[in-house]
Amino acid sequence: MGTTLKAMLRSKYGSFAAVALFCALIAGIGVAFVNRATTKLLESDAEMVTEEWANYIVSNVPDLSEIAQGELPSTESVIFFEQARQVGRVYDFSIYDPDGKLILRSKELGRTHTFDYNIFSNRPEFLPARKDRKRVIFVNESGASSGPEIYSDALLPIGTQGNLDGWLEIKVDQTARQRLFMSSMTSLALIIGAILAAGPALGFWYRTRQKQIAERQLNYLSHFDMATGLLNRGAWLERLGGLLAGRGESAQRAAVFQIDLNGFKLATDNFGPTAGDTFLKEMAARIVEEPFAQATVARVNSGQFAAFLPRIADTIDAAHMARKIVEVLSRPVEWEDHVLNSPVSVGVALIPDDGNDASRLWTAASIALEEAIEAGRNCYRFFAAETERQTQKQRDLEQTITEAYERNYFELYYQPIIELKTKKLRGFEALIRLNHPEKGMISPADFIPVAEKTGDIQKIGAWCLEEACHTASFWPPDLTVSVNLSPLQFNSGQLISVLRRALDASNFPAYRLELEVTEGLLLGNVDVVKEQLQVLRDMGIAVSLDDFGTGYSSLSYLWQFPFSKIKIDQSFIRAIEATPSAPGILRTIISLGRYLSVPMTAEGVETAEQARFLERAGCQLAQGYLFSRPVPSTEVAGIILKDFTKSLSKKPGLSKRARKPAKLPDEARL
Ligand code: C2E
Ligand code: MG
Ligand code: MG
Repeated sequence: MGTTLKAMLRSKYGSFAAVALFCALIAGIGVAFVNRATTKLLESDAEMVTEEWANYIVSNVPDLSEIAQGELPSTESVIFFEQARQVGRVYDFSIYDPDGKLILRSKELGRTHTFDYNIFSNRPEFLPARKDRKRVIFVNESGASSGPEIYSDALLPIGTQGNLDGWLEIKVDQTARQRLFMSSMTSLALIIGAILAAGPALGFWYRTRQKQIAERQLNYLSHFDMATGLLNRGAWLERLGGLLAGRGESAQRAAVFQIDLNGFKLATDNFGPTAGDTFLKEMAARIVEEPFAQATVARVNSGQFAAFLPRIADTIDAAHMARKIVEVLSRPVEWEDHVLNSPVSVGVALIPDDGNDASRLWTAASIALEEAIEAGRNCYRFFAAETERQTQKQRDLEQTITEAYERNYFELYYQPIIELKTKKLRGFEALIRLNHPEKGMISPADFIPVAEKTGDIQKIGAWCLEEACHTASFWPPDLTVSVNLSPLQFNSGQLISVLRRALDASNFPAYRLELEVTEGLLLGNVDVVKEQLQVLRDMGIAVSLDDFGTGYSSLSYLWQFPFSKIKIDQSFIRAIEATPSAPGILRTIISLGRYLSVPMTAEGVETAEQARFLERAGCQLAQGYLFSRPVPSTEVAGIILKDFTKSLSKKPGLSKRARKPAKLPDEARL
């Protein structure tokens, strides 16, 4: 079979064509069979009738041979011939002499003249009868308007004891027989045809049906969610588009809801996928029943539903619906011996207020949902343009961070940490900067929270550690470097190996590295954090508590975790002059450090008064604009040099000249 034909057969129309071809073939064979069988039956019927009739004539016309020889028939024979002409289906018969000359014709009985007709000359098809002296029969269609439609014409030899006395021609009306045979054969052919066609037809029917079922299933799968039977996202958006188009410019308010069911993840994570599916099914059943009987509902994401409500009165009505969703869906679901609970968050977008097309409304409801999730779940939020602006800003920042990492736009700045009593340089805090060629300097206070959200903080944090260790490895050995850590770096499980890599890469001693963590770290998985802090301690790395006083400031942290230093948040320092109670609070905090034997660092020291107060209060270390702003690594050498010079000038017995450092062991490396 050629490839074109094969391809044709494989197509829908090809299958029909193949079946039609097969049926036409069967029909053709059927017609040929009916014609052939009818002819055969007619021939054998004609033979039988002819035979019977010939015997009938022979036995009733004793002078038949004589008649054939040209003698006139006896009166009895003429009477017999008259009667015979009206009996049965023989409608005409003739007698010929041995040479085929017509002697008597039933239709012209009693005729006196001789016939001038010879059957062999006029009907050469009968010549084989003369040659073999045997009977010859034809079944013919008459074609004439009078006489039978179908007839058989037989020529039989007449004779006794082997002599040929003449010929008897018998014409039998076969019209009725032909019809009978034809209809019987047609019925038979139809039955056989039906039996023959039944197999392939059944096969075709079965295949078509299977295909239809498969197509229906495919259609179902592409439009519906298997677990809940609700529409899927694509189908829902399509339907929403249609419904919105149908609304036209209608002022009737409608609403789109996006619903997040955190319980699906919780159920799946804790009890496996069956629990998750049970939970979802129950949620789907509830949502289409109670709050959303009139809505078009879909499961749009693993644990998220969406619904379009075609009619709402006003914002209050929409808020009522949203509250109802939270209330109905947050009821617990029982699964085996467990109870599955889910916080429910809902985002609402109003039509026409927040948009009129499906994709716009989807975005608006998603933004509102995000806000509801961020607000702590189990609540609803309406779409607000301001939130969208914020979201867009955040997306831009996400892209900028990715770009910055790929193109090395990140840089570390260093801010000196000073010992208040001696004013000596003790180390630097590394502070990250994103210096974008077009967008300018972006503050870590802006991009660190975004990087924490996207997870980019892991690679950025690792880079900071490597970069800080590398830079500080060129400083004098008594100077430390402090690096800020995000609490998320403790969750990755990679922190220790990242630190080892950073230290090893620059051959930087662990005791010169300090890590700054905030109280937020201690809100997470306390055991995991404690374990890692212990490993850091064992490695010889110092850990400082940054921004002390701003977070939860639970004093229990201070003795639960052995911090190497506590950094007092700059808001306290700023308050020294402005807030009367601040100095007292600061003194208390500083004395707390003394009792714990943990050195205190004051952040954000901007004035000499602040520095003096802190020194008197017993604070050991400080950093702030008073001493220096954070500077790029290239300016660190100058600060170190200045500090060295200052320390020389304080040493007794050294002249001003001699105080100038002619050569520093580490200077050359800075
Ligand atoms: P932080 O760790 O508390 O850093 C001190 C912040 O105070 C720095 O802001 C510093 O520039 C600023 N500062 C220092 N002295 C003064 C002063 O006298 N007056 C005023 N007004 N500010 C002063 P910066 O560099 O913008 O960093 C902000 C925060 O971003 C940091 O607070 C830290 O939490 C975070 N951060 C900075 N670099 C990194 C980093 O590499 N990794 C992580 N995870 N966070 C970082
Ligand atoms: Mg810090
Ligand atoms: Mg701080």
